[in-house]
Amino acid sequence: MFIISENIYEQLIQDGKKALPREAVGLIFGRKEGTSEITESYVAAENISSSQSSFEFDKKFFETAIASAGSSLIALFHTHPNDLPIPSRKDIDGIGDWTHLKHLILSFYGEPKLKVWGIFNSQIVPEPWRIAK
Ligand SMILES: [Zn+2]
Repeated sequence: MFIISENIYEQLIQDGKKALPREAVGLIFGRKEGTSEITESYVAAENISSSQSSFEFDKKFFETAIASAGSSLIALFHTHPNDLPIPSRKDIDGIGDWTHLKHLILSFYGEPKLKVWGIFNSQIVPEPWRIAK
């Protein structure tokens, strides 16, 4: 179970809306507790991709954010302004060394809809999630 604090969930929605029509991106830090992952902080990133339908992090930003976070990087966040919250071929192919992270995708295709995924060996696995109260 991936557990998102109400505050972080609100930030994801806000950031996603602000970035439209481009994709928003960010890093989510937190901790593991048994089989659950619990979010502790969210750092919005600048999407440096020139394309409207993809995202790219600035490497330096990425390293600085990880070094200054008080907890572990547990997930990457990005939005799909015009598509379902399902990893795209590009998302899957571009996963690189990040298969140990969860991938949060917030779709603005219709009502905002968030999904959490594991991506391993080109396979996508939906991860149950909820908002912490
Ligand atoms: Zn995507």
